[in-house]
Amino acid sequence: MSSVGAALPALPARITIREVGPRDGLQPEPPVPVATRVQLVMALIDAGVSLIEVAAFVSPKAVPAMAGAAEVMAALPRSPSVRHVALVPNVRGAELAAEAGVDALTLTVSASEGYSQRNVHMSVEDSLAQVAAIRSAIGGDLPMDTVISCAFGSPYEGDLDPAAVADLGRRALGSGSTSLTYADTTGMATPRRVRDLLAETGNDGGLHLHDTRGTALVNAYAALEAGVTRFDTAVGGLGGSPFAAGAGGNLATEDLVHMCDDLGIATGIDLGALLAISSQVAETVGHPVPSRVAAAGPRSRLHPG
Ligand code: ZN
Repeated sequence: MSSVGAALPALPARITIREVGPRDGLQPEPPVPVATRVQLVMALIDAGVSLIEVAAFVSPKAVPAMAGAAEVMAALPRSPSVRHVALVPNVRGAELAAEAGVDALTLTVSASEGYSQRNVHMSVEDSLAQVAAIRSAIGGDLPMDTVISCAFGSPYEGDLDPAAVADLGRRALGSGSTSLTYADTTGMATPRRVRDLLAETGNDGGLHLHDTRGTALVNAYAALEAGVTRFDTAVGGLGGSPFAAGAGGNLATEDLVHMCDDLGIATGIDLGALLAISSQVAETVGHPVPSRVAAAGPRSRLHPG
């Protein structure tokens, strides 16, 4: 047995999970009231989540499920140990988010020209210009994480060159982003493609994985092997871009925490508390959540009889 253990690759001792359920997870669902979204955020923080995407400062006409972002922020008790993040699409959204007191912004730039045109009706170049415009509008202090969507391939252009994706990331940093996250928006990543991209980008970016083709958790494991320590996940595995057909849910927070618990990788999140929230979320959205651990229970659960 010890030889098996010794053969395991060195994995990080600790990772940071950015919980995106209240934003990415709920965005494609019918609108959930502000008070319920606030309760969800507070419950996740109680479960140990310390970095959480709570809202999107977008037009409520374009994204009805995200209406009331400022109200969500205003209702949340603040603590120095928890960072509240908001997604912003443009300068106006960034200004509103900064006024609402968010701790960090999330922006999106797509590696896919076709996805960019359909999703934000802007070219990739215009999205990069938007990053710079947002930085100059809000000043130098607020952390800005740029999510490179379709980083592992695009439904419009197919496979993308990892070197070109890495170059786009560098340009986003040069435009005022303070960190990067590579997103598998439409579930095209595999462990091999995770390794290929990380070989170009290094392992200091975050990963945002979707389970469209059942590869989210194995991709996360490949990334852990490569030393990645930041992951986006959504409670229940909810979510998926409303702009990409069959996008599939996000990697479920409880599925990643469950695996990390067994690997001895600290997440700071309590699995039992998370599963209770996940079952509440299923009631909120009115359908079962995709998470497998939510469905089956943790592996350590005893089955008397
Ligand atoms: Zn997502």
